[in-house]
Amino acid sequence: MLDRSIGEFSRFVIISLGCTILGFTSGNWSLALIAGLAAYLISLLWQQQRFNRWLANGRRGPAPTAFGIWGEIYDDFYRMQRRHRREKQKLHAMLRRVQDSTGALREGIVALENGDHLAWWNPAAGELLGLQASDSGQSLVNFVRDPGFVSYMHSEDTDSQEPLTLPAPGNETLRLQLEVTRYGKDEALVIVRDITRLHNLEQMRRDFVANVSHELRTPLTVIAGYLETLQGSDMAPPAWQRPLAQMGEQASRMTTLVNDLLLLARLETSERTGDDMPVDVQELMERVAREARSFSGGRHQIEVHSETHNCICGDASELYSAFANLVLNAVKYSPEEGEIKLRWWQDSLGGHFSVEDRGIGIDPMHIPRLTERFYRVDPGRSRDSGGTGLGLAIVKHVLLRHDGEMSVESTPAQGSTFTLHFPQQKVAGKVEKTPEVVAGT
Ligand code: ADP
Repeated sequence: MLDRSIGEFSRFVIISLGCTILGFTSGNWSLALIAGLAAYLISLLWQQQRFNRWLANGRRGPAPTAFGIWGEIYDDFYRMQRRHRREKQKLHAMLRRVQDSTGALREGIVALENGDHLAWWNPAAGELLGLQASDSGQSLVNFVRDPGFVSYMHSEDTDSQEPLTLPAPGNETLRLQLEVTRYGKDEALVIVRDITRLHNLEQMRRDFVANVSHELRTPLTVIAGYLETLQGSDMAPPAWQRPLAQMGEQASRMTTLVNDLLLLARLETSERTGDDMPVDVQELMERVAREARSFSGGRHQIEVHSETHNCICGDASELYSAFANLVLNAVKYSPEEGEIKLRWWQDSLGGHFSVEDRGIGIDPMHIPRLTERFYRVDPGRSRDSGGTGLGLAIVKHVLLRHDGEMSVESTPAQGSTFTLHFPQQKVAGKVEKTPEVVAGT
């Protein structure tokens, strides 16, 4: 840059000197100098004018040729322009590749700007969500009106939430899974998957288990009834009494298993009606404590501590199943004389019910899997104590239907604490009359 300025300055000096010398020989050096400088200025303005015209014409073709400093500016500009053109072509090619590959994806991809406004989507997303080119700029919740999706979109932290499953807009037979990832400033990417096949398979599995359990219930009741009649009666010879007792035990285990399977199927398939009733927590705790004492046969000390008197808004029989499963587990997995504490308290986060025992405890590696169906830490012990392996799966589903969560703290050989957390909006103050709690696990 300095070289160019020196070059141009030298040119200026040479022109001035040349004009002055010429002026001396012709007798009027000042006029010659003014004429020379004026010519120099005009040539600079002319170059600038050509440059402006070239810019105004959209820089088509190579930059005009020129001499001096303007020639160098033209060359630099032309080189820069060529470099930009090459980079633009590269960017275009890359964009085309991204569009081609996202266009070939079976998953739908929607880019949102300004919170939830449609900025771009691939053909799969257009098909699954029924979007037209003219919908660009509109809010996505105008097309996906499912209330679950609307509150999901409006929640602060979508990234930590599970993907949402809902029927496709305008086509109830299609099941979509939507996952929102926020990035940048008010921008988000929505991935839409068609999970109809998986959803139907899952539905078939649930229906199958529910139907089989239902079909088994009647024959089992008949078998258990006859076994009970035969036991202790003189219709069966004394040598048969032991096998009959064992058969009765197994029939009752199978009945418990079938009942748990049916309850789980109902929890999974039936929709929450939304007509929650206030369930008195203290009554519920006293009731499960009474049943646990009778199940324990006086071998455990079961205490109930309630810090506040509240109700949980929900389904009485479902809440009973969740509370009872935890308390019966504490009895099953605690040694004789073991202390079991049932606690209820309320804080700024909501209401909490915990069951603490001094039993066998659980190795931390098993804790994340406890709510899986038929997952048992010690299958032999679970079966001996009459466990079906479905109790905590039932607790999990009941909590899902009451917006609750479960936490587990446990140390092997020292004991466990299972805590159910209910959000503030599900906890109410005590009401005078509550519905009867329906028994059944
Ligand atoms: P189960 O009918 O076998 O008790 P659950 O689903 O209720 O099935 O519990 C799953 C497993 O979790 C149990 O088999 C047991 O190993 C473990 N578990 C549950 N509660 C406790 C507890 N209070 N103490 C120790 N282990 C427990």
